[in-house]
Amino acid sequence: MRIDLHAHSNVSDGTQSPERLIHAAREADIDVLALTDHDSTAGWAEASNAARSEGIVLIPGMEVSCRTEDGVSVHVLSYLHDPEHLGLLDEITKAREARLTRAEQMVDRLAADYPITWEHVLEHLAPGATVGRPHIADALVKLNVVETRSHAFAHILSGRSSYFVSHYAPNPALAVDLIRQAGGVPVFAHPAASIRGRTVSDRTMGEMIDAGLAGLEIEHRDNSDEGKAKLRALADRHCLLVTGSSDYHGAGKPNLLGENLTSEKALARIEELGTGTKPIR
Ligand code: AMP
Ligand code: FE
Ligand code: FE
Ligand code: ZN
Repeated sequence: MRIDLHAHSNVSDGTQSPERLIHAAREADIDVLALTDHDSTAGWAEASNAARSEGIVLIPGMEVSCRTEDGVSVHVLSYLHDPEHLGLLDEITKAREARLTRAEQMVDRLAADYPITWEHVLEHLAPGATVGRPHIADALVKLNVVETRSHAFAHILSGRSSYFVSHYAPNPALAVDLIRQAGGVPVFAHPAASIRGRTVSDRTMGEMIDAGLAGLEIEHRDNSDEGKAKLRALADRHCLLVTGSSDYHGAGKPNLLGENLTSEKALARIEELGTGTKPIR
């Protein structure tokens, strides 16, 4: 069984519609796929229909943007939560609204040096999608300012850039707690992704575990080798489940569907713990 539990559609910053994503998963011989758009479940219905017709099992999911008090960006994957749970819905709605203001502010700053307008960004944003730096990157690629999204992230859009603006995001322990309340299974996405910026302190990790963290996404291309070893020890100590996934974004990133996989045992545990919604078969 090929199980990949982290993939994005154009409901956030992937480049394919949910239907096209499921089709791509079929072509990559994936048996079970989780759709995990940033701060949105708007792709679930389309992905479910496509999964049924392509014969793929869909795990409805989401990737919740979070930030610690000391400013570290954290992503928490949620599987099988109730998409209508008000507490969780309220937090992702706040984050999505803040993302929009923030993206507009970043474009204002960029416009001082580059010929970019908000309309250029909108060209790369599906209606209702969660906006992020990748959509600004796409506009910069189209304007021939940079070659690829990754090049844009290397300097112009990096967290250290003067064009960077941060946005509201819940504390990770709060997100973990709300995901649990919504019947979901919270898994820490790429916890040791030091190439993206600072990673969390032992204290934040402890708070997330105390709040009910269920698992760690250890097999992910952005986790450092040293970080992975520490995470394995942590998972053993706290009986956390371990996942491996691609974090596929279509043409937006080099990550390929199925480049990392999750065990059947871990998936079974996720299905046991997740009570907010059912897998689509
Ligand atoms: P934001 O959520 O707006 O802060 O942007 C972060 C998103 O950008 C992440 O979800 C990644 O999918 C994407 N991203 C981060 N680094 C890169 C990169 N080097 N190349 C392409 N996409 C990236
Ligand atoms: Fe993303
Ligand atoms: Fe992420
Ligand atoms: Zn992701």
